[in-house]
Amino acid sequence: MSKVVQRIELDSMSPGTERFVKAHRYGKPGARPKAYLQASLHADEIPGMLAAHHLISLLDDADARGDITGEIIVVPVANPVGAGQVINTTFAGRYDFRSGVNFNRRWPDLSQGLAAKVKGKLGKDAEANIATVRQALGETVEQIYAVGENAKLRRELMRLAHDADIVLDLHCDDIALLHVYTTNAFWPRARDLAAEVGARAVLLCDDSGAASFDESFFLPWYRLQKEVGPDYPVPAPVLTSTVEFRGQADVYDELAIQDARGLFRFLQRRGLIAGDPGPLPELTAKVTNLDACEIVRTPKAGIIAYRKREGDVVKAGDVIAEIVDPLADDPKKARIELRCQSDGPILSTRAMKAVAAGDTVAMIVGDKALPNPTGLMLSD
Ligand SMILES: [Zn+2]
Repeated sequence: MSKVVQRIELDSMSPGTERFVKAHRYGKPGARPKAYLQASLHADEIPGMLAAHHLISLLDDADARGDITGEIIVVPVANPVGAGQVINTTFAGRYDFRSGVNFNRRWPDLSQGLAAKVKGKLGKDAEANIATVRQALGETVEQIYAVGENAKLRRELMRLAHDADIVLDLHCDDIALLHVYTTNAFWPRARDLAAEVGARAVLLCDDSGAASFDESFFLPWYRLQKEVGPDYPVPAPVLTSTVEFRGQADVYDELAIQDARGLFRFLQRRGLIAGDPGPLPELTAKVTNLDACEIVRTPKAGIIAYRKREGDVVKAGDVIAEIVDPLADDPKKARIELRCQSDGPILSTRAMKAVAAGDTVAMIVGDKALPNPTGLMLSD
């Protein structure tokens, strides 16, 4: 048995309270490949948490058989700060109550100062360069400002993940098909991940501008390679992905067991667990660039009445929904139509049917980039 459960205390923010993170660690520390998986960074997104619960059970059994061949870290509750954010009966785990910041945005930028740190230490050997850059990234992580429970949470999660070969952040959407975000650099190499979890869409992006958790481990390499040029190869050695396990209400053992088994087989394929994962399932996802994923917004407030559901395949010009003005004097003139501009499956819709002007009401997996007046590739 190699398993160690690490308990990491966060700073107390008020007298008599204290939160902690638990990391389930498997394999020999320093073994390769190394995978880091965490669930529910948006604390009110529970499907990944239940999948992690089942994955831990599968890993415990594999560990008892002596089958762990790499290093695996699973953090089933990545955000104990958000997990406590309930107002009356409403769970609000997406934004930090203290700062207002989205828990999966504005992560510390590990690329800051990286080129200066490795200057004069890089050569022609990519493997040697990777080791040099990893060490520099480790030093940067240690320097992250970490006073206060959320700041400390961020540093501690980065400490666990920064040198991994695979970083998977398990989320979910509002009402959605299972989908996967990953980088162009790792496509189609990440096909096994998408196929094993049964993704219906794969969205590719190198830098969304959001500074999300997964991007914060890929971008330092991406930016450094651009800065130092091709004479000094620093290929990103980390497959990063956010996996969206459907919608917030899709929390069932049947689904979570299926998801955990998919993740387990993916880790087997990648050489972290012994055993035969069997043939790779067929990939049924539509693959597109993130900027070709249309975000449909409503120009007016009201009640949204959907005409289409997640999974429906639409064409440009189709009516996705109508916005109803419940205050209209004449109910026959109370509706405006929302049409999409893309062809493809509807990826997500919203559970809350009262909408404000500017709200995202649907995402469609399109084929080409559309004008993006907000400049945001991810809705906040
Ligand atoms: Zn999320």
